[in-house]
Amino acid sequence: MASGDVVVALDVGGTGMKCALVRPDGVAVHTERHPTEAARGPAAVVDTILDVAEGLAGKARADGFTPVALGVAVPGVVDEARGVAVWSANVGFRDVPLRDLAVARLGLPATLGHDVRAGGIAEARLGAGRGAGHVLFVAIGTGIAAAHVVDGAASLGAHGAAGEFGHILVRPGGPRCGCGRPGCLEAVASASAVARRYAELSGTPGTAAEVGERAAAGEPAAVRVWRETVEALADGLATAQALFDVATIVVGGGLAQAGARLLDPLRAALHERMTFHRQPRLVAAALGDEAGCLGAALLALDARRGVPTTMEAP
Ligand SMILES: [Zn+2]
Repeated sequence: MASGDVVVALDVGGTGMKCALVRPDGVAVHTERHPTEAARGPAAVVDTILDVAEGLAGKARADGFTPVALGVAVPGVVDEARGVAVWSANVGFRDVPLRDLAVARLGLPATLGHDVRAGGIAEARLGAGRGAGHVLFVAIGTGIAAAHVVDGAASLGAHGAAGEFGHILVRPGGPRCGCGRPGCLEAVASASAVARRYAELSGTPGTAAEVGERAAAGEPAAVRVWRETVEALADGLATAQALFDVATIVVGGGLAQAGARLLDPLRAALHERMTFHRQPRLVAAALGDEAGCLGAALLALDARRGVPTTMEAP
């Protein structure tokens, strides 16, 4: 690859798009953000994605770089092999052939990936999991999802649905999950579940971050909700560790911004649950909300080099 080559990378979320021009060594030379405005409907969102990608390719050329590929990460169910955004609750995608649309518009090779898997690849190769080999990236935000990354490649699963960590059953008969089943991890320990549970117990509204702060200050309802959250997450992580035996668990997403307030008790609770299993390193994500965008670039670079980015080698 020539020294002036860059990849156009986009991470499309429910509220915003993180975008960058990324060099082959993973360094972003330019970043920008745009609102998704998902309420306009999926067709309008697709138009915006293509417009923004085209604008970034133009920006690259104007700055003396050569755009060589496009990588896009999207949430929901993604058919990475066919480049189709199959289904997304918060963006509204239904079977959108995003990769082919992008190839047609930009005239560049394009790669479509799942946002959490892309973030996991980036954290494993460039961020907090660097050098670990076997990494579990867990994103705890409005929902909970994970990516199991081995030697820089993320597992897709037989149906593209690996990593649905939020739907591990941790509290049978517990709060009903968005998927319809009571007691999923996501229904107990996502940022939205923390806020909901706290409002129920205290009669006071509060974001998950505020609940964490109030727990640290000793407010009883917040202490209880935070403890229940940590215990549910530790139950889920203990199951994941029994299955995957990773060296490092990287915790990202909005709830991870609580830092040591979350990670210290979570590390202790996970330790209590380990019997013969090897204790993984538990660390906060290092790339913040740019992980998905960097991961989208890595997916595009891998496709260009012919490197399989998933354990389902083509
Ligand atoms: Zn569920």
